[in-house]
Amino acid sequence: MTQRELPRMFRRITLSGIDPARLKMKTVAVFGVGGIGALIAEMLARVGIGKLILIDKDLVEEENMNRLGFYSEDLGKPKVQVLKRRLESIAELRGSQYPLAVDAYFVNIFDFELLDGVVKNSDCIMLALDDLDARLEVNSYAIKHRKVLIDGGASTNGLRGRITVVKPFEWPCLGCYYSDESIMAEGQLGEITCNVSLPTTMALIASLQVDQCLKVLLDKEGVVPLILVNLEEEPQIVVYNHMRRRKGCEFCGGDEDRRKS
Ligand SMILES: [Zn+2]
Repeated sequence: MTQRELPRMFRRITLSGIDPARLKMKTVAVFGVGGIGALIAEMLARVGIGKLILIDKDLVEEENMNRLGFYSEDLGKPKVQVLKRRLESIAELRGSQYPLAVDAYFVNIFDFELLDGVVKNSDCIMLALDDLDARLEVNSYAIKHRKVLIDGGASTNGLRGRITVVKPFEWPCLGCYYSDESIMAEGQLGEITCNVSLPTTMALIASLQVDQCLKVLLDKEGVVPLILVNLEEEPQIVVYNHMRRRKGCEFCGGDEDRRKS
């Protein structure tokens, strides 16, 4: 398809190296569609992703309105349903050659019977959940099916953030970072969760997660294991290129490869 035949909304993004013709073949699962996940889903829909699977257990509440993604008319409705409708409205402009499929599941991760299949059938897993146990649960399925998982969260003061890219058996998994005896890269990684929220930090985290996701899906350079964002003083984005898996990680068995090498 030539540039002129692309839907209007995609013509300029190709100048940035984004290829909607490739992205329309891809499926991304987004676990948690709050202040970070809703933005992730919307960004992916706007650049041509073919299928989005949304999983979230929450209703839109007034306390969510400090974040982007939801509006007053959405109050009381399941986040996944509101978002599905909004994404389908965006996708109408993509035309018949670039349809968007959206599967929405209003469910708790631990009651989600399709979890294994959803992870298995996705090209990339996006995590924007505030509950560590739920994140580790998805982490274990990503490792099982060798899927790239991209986790994002903000710190307890809402001014710092972390984007973790897990390439199973190559880079540290979430279980490598979150353990009792080992906290890597930064002493306070353990306190980083998604439950505090400033729209500034959250939009930045979502953007970096989607940047990494697009690079994964389009086989581009520039995917890194860990990015830390800090807006407490002068804005900082710090990339960590060399992260080691944790010895004896109960999720990815981090020590086995080291014994072999
Ligand atoms: Zn691990």
